This record gives sequence, structure tokens and C-alpha cells, in this order.
Amino acid sequence: MKTKLPPARKARPATKSTAAPKPRRMLIDGEWLYANSGETFSTYNPATGEVICEVAAGGSVDVDRAVKAARAAFESGPWRKMTASERGRILWRLADLLEKNLEEFAVLESLDNGKPLAVARAADVPLAIDLFRYMAGWTTKIHGSTFPISVPYAPGAQFFAYTQREPIGVVGQIIPWNFPLLMAAWKLGPALATGCTVVLKPAEQTPLTALRLGELIIEAGFPPGVVNIVTGLGETAGAALAAHPGIDKIAFTGSTEVGKLIVQAASRDLKKVSLELGGKSPNLVLEDADLDIAIPGAASAIYFNHGQCCCAGSRLYVHKKHFDKVVEGVAAAAKKIKVGPGHEPETEMGPLVSEEQLNRVMGFLQAGQDEGAKSLAGGARVGKKGYFVQPTLLVNTKPGMKVMEEEIFGPVVCAVPFSSVEEVVSHANNNVYGLASAVWTKDVSKAHRIASQLRAGTVWVNCYNIFDAAMPFGGYKQSGWGREMGAEALELYTETKAVCIRL
Ligand code: NAP
Ligand code: MG
Repeated sequence: MKTKLPPARKARPATKSTAAPKPRRMLIDGEWLYANSGETFSTYNPATGEVICEVAAGGSVDVDRAVKAARAAFESGPWRKMTASERGRILWRLADLLEKNLEEFAVLESLDNGKPLAVARAADVPLAIDLFRYMAGWTTKIHGSTFPISVPYAPGAQFFAYTQREPIGVVGQIIPWNFPLLMAAWKLGPALATGCTVVLKPAEQTPLTALRLGELIIEAGFPPGVVNIVTGLGETAGAALAAHPGIDKIAFTGSTEVGKLIVQAASRDLKKVSLELGGKSPNLVLEDADLDIAIPGAASAIYFNHGQCCCAGSRLYVHKKHFDKVVEGVAAAAKKIKVGPGHEPETEMGPLVSEEQLNRVMGFLQAGQDEGAKSLAGGARVGKKGYFVQPTLLVNTKPGMKVMEEEIFGPVVCAVPFSSVEEVVSHANNNVYGLASAVWTKDVSKAHRIASQLRAGTVWVNCYNIFDAAMPFGGYKQSGWGREMGAEALELYTETKAVCIRL
């Protein structure tokens, strides 16, 4: 819903960060501003469908202003003159501030996104803190190399050559709503570690933690313009960012569909692009798996974060010998999950993020039913208020069915029996996505062999959803371009320069 606000420019710095009736402002060049148009949009509590607050609806004018601020901060601000060590210290300070305010961030994330408070407290916020610390450590370790060069057409001449790695420049970053703060950290951490400046656009469903992070970014000592946070809708603010000629690189996490639009927009001036997109990740329970860990592992692979994970283990392949036992176990786990509002202490699964996602997931459940799938658990909405869906397990699912091929992004898993490793690897790879995968087996050799055969950016063995700031994450095939986290993430934000000197 869009409403018109009286135009008010250069508002006072935001002070209180928890949800309040006043519209939230954007961070541009170190100032908290309403949209140039005066427009706002609502962010909702998905447990009730009620509006939490209004947020500035940035458009192309605001994006342009933010890009100019980021450009000035990159070209001529104090940021570029800082030493790597100073940059690292500011990033570390940001992590400390986030840790100091961990509970507030967890509460805000749970409110805006719907996830259980306990999950935000144990996973989202600590992972974001860790990511900033990990990237703070990298600032002083980003370096080029020297190498002998021979130059056959310059006999007798001597050269000294080296490379150096430089920040790519002004970066546009567009993030989704499933892990709002963590996705902001995955994007900002490496960009700032390498010395880039940023315009970040959070998802319209979940802008609140990114805005609060903006306050900490100022407090930590990042100079104005280094991080700009433009809230707004994808088709307006997001599209303006992707197409802006002043942006050197665009980093996107979200749907494969929008990822393709980003590539089109970026291709006009050949911006660098990195993409972290959808998935339909296969989870393989082999004949020799330890079922005591594989069954709860398979349940949490899909039901964690309500299935709203790009790497959700949504295709569960089980050796036929254990198929009945595993599906019974996963169905029992699904039925036990306590679904409720994120702030209630006993809640294990909250609502989906929005009415749109609820309708999308319900559409998939209907399609599954129409095509002959049978639900052994769940299959329906919970209540009429909020966007709750039952944890669902589908069987009788076959290749080609919509529920087997497409990303549902909800708590819905399709279980399929298999007879041989060759067969299951071929099924696992037979999908347009290649983000994550998992194998449950007691045979180490088999685990390594299958890990090398799976066409996915991550292979978990006897575990699922294990993330670490040091471990790169990203997709094969239509799951994306590039890797986030780890040393690989620095590649996304640096250019290599070769310098050659005749001695
Ligand atoms: P989405 O549309 O891809 O949104 C992701 C981000 O892109 C948001 O910030 C969105 O802004 C922005 N965006 C949307 N249209 C844009 C455009 N034309 N140009 C530039 N930016 C644009 O994802 P969604 O609609 O939130 O969810 C739909 C599906 O995406 C899910 O069901 C799931 O399959 C997938 N998804 C994947 C991930 C992941 O981690 N890989 C995360 C979330 C969703 P607004 O939100 O403001 O529109
Ligand atoms: Mg919300």
C-alpha cells in the first residue's frame, strides 16, 4: 500500500529504532531522509497481517542521490584514504555494536519477517556478527602477487611486474526477505572489507533491521556515503539501482526470475554482476545412512526458516529400503513442529513472510494435489489470521511435476525412493538449479565420490544448513554467479590490476 506523505527533506537523525508509527527514513550520504516523492510503503507483521510501520518508498531520484553519494565517498572521501587496518577496525566495531544490540535485532527481525525469535537470536544475528568480524580480518590480507615475466619480443630488457587488488568501486546490492539482516551482512561485509562503497536495497517485506543497522554503521564510524540504504520496491528502487550507470557492480540475492532481469539491466553498461538465486536442493539418504541423524536432518533441511531458504532440502531422495521409515519419521517431525507467532517462546515455525508467499505456497500444494501427490503431513494453511502453513511432506511425486521441479520456498518437501547411487545422483542433478545438496551415509569414500558428482555449490555430508563466514556459498547452473562468504567473496568486489615496470 502506498500513501503520500508531505514532502519533508533532511529529517532529524533517527533515534528510536523499534517499531513506531512514524515512517522510517532512508540513509543517504549519512542523513536520514524521506523519499523525494514523499511516498511510503507498509511493512507488515506476517503473524497478524497488521502494519508495523510505514517506510520511505525510494525511487529513481533517491537511488540517483545515493549512487552519487557513494561515488563521492569512493572517489574523494576519507574512506579511500583509510588504511586497510582502519577499515578493519571500523568493521569490527560494527560487529561489536551488533553484538551489543543482539536482542533488539532479534526482536525486530522476528517481528518483521515472522521467524521465531529464538532462531533470530541463535542464528541470524550471531551469523551476521561473525561475518563482519571475519571480513574485518580480511581487510589487511587482500593482496596481489609478483611473478617473473619473460617477454620474448624484448630480448635483454628487464621488467618487474606485480598485481594489486583494488576495490571495484560503487556497488549496488539488492537483498531478499528470508534472512534480512544476514543477507545485508553477506553483502556489506566483503564490499566494505575491500574498500567499495555501497547502495543497499532491502526487500520491501523486511526493511527494518537493515535500517537499524544503518544507525550502527554511522555509530561505528563509516564516513557518510560509504553505506547508503535505499528502501523501496523492487520494480522501482531495485530496477533503478540495477540500471544506474553510476554503479560499477551489482550484487543480488533473490529469485532466478528477477536475477535474469538484473542481468538484462546490468548488461546495458556491462556492470559486473553476482547472483545468489533459487534452488531445489536434493537431499540423499543412502542405504547405509545413520537414520537417527538422517531423519531429523531431513526434517530440519526443509522446515528450518519455514522452508524459506534458497538451499532448502526440498527434494528428499531415500533409498527404497528405508523409504517408509524415513517418510514416517519426517512426517512425525513435521506434525510435532509448533507453528505460531515468532515472539512466542514455544514457537518452532512462524508464518510465511507475506500473503503473496502464502498464496504462492498454497498454489503449489494445490498443483501437487492435482498432479497426484499425496501429503503424509500438512498440506493446509493454519488458521485464518497471519500467513501460517503446515509443515508438509508429499509423496507420490515424480519428475516433471511442478512441486518437483520448481522452487516452492515454503515448508514443503517431496520424498522419492531410489534404488542405486547412480540413479539418485542423476535425479539429483536433473534440475535447472544447483545451489546446495546433502548426502547421508556412513561410508566416507562414497560420500567423497558423490560429493564430486553433485552439480551444486555446497554438498553437506551428514549435516544440513551449516553455514560459516569462511565457507563459500553460491550456485551452479541457474542458482547464480559467484560465491559469497569466504575468501571467494572478495573476488566479487575487487579488480586485479597488473603493473609492469621496465627496469
Ligand atoms: P524477488 O522478487 O527476487 O526479490 C528479491 C529482491 O529483489 C527484493 O529486494 C526485491 O525488491 C528485488 N526486486 C524485485 N524485482 C526487482 C526488479 N525488477 N529489479 C530489481 N530488484 C527487484 O523475490 P521475492 O518476490 O521476494 O520472492 C519470490 C521468490 O524468490 C521466492 O519464492 C523464492 O523462490 C525466491 N527467493 C529466493 C531467495 C534466495 O535467498 N535465493 C530469497 C528470497 C526469495 P522488493 O522485495 O522490494 O520487491
Ligand atoms: Mg514485514
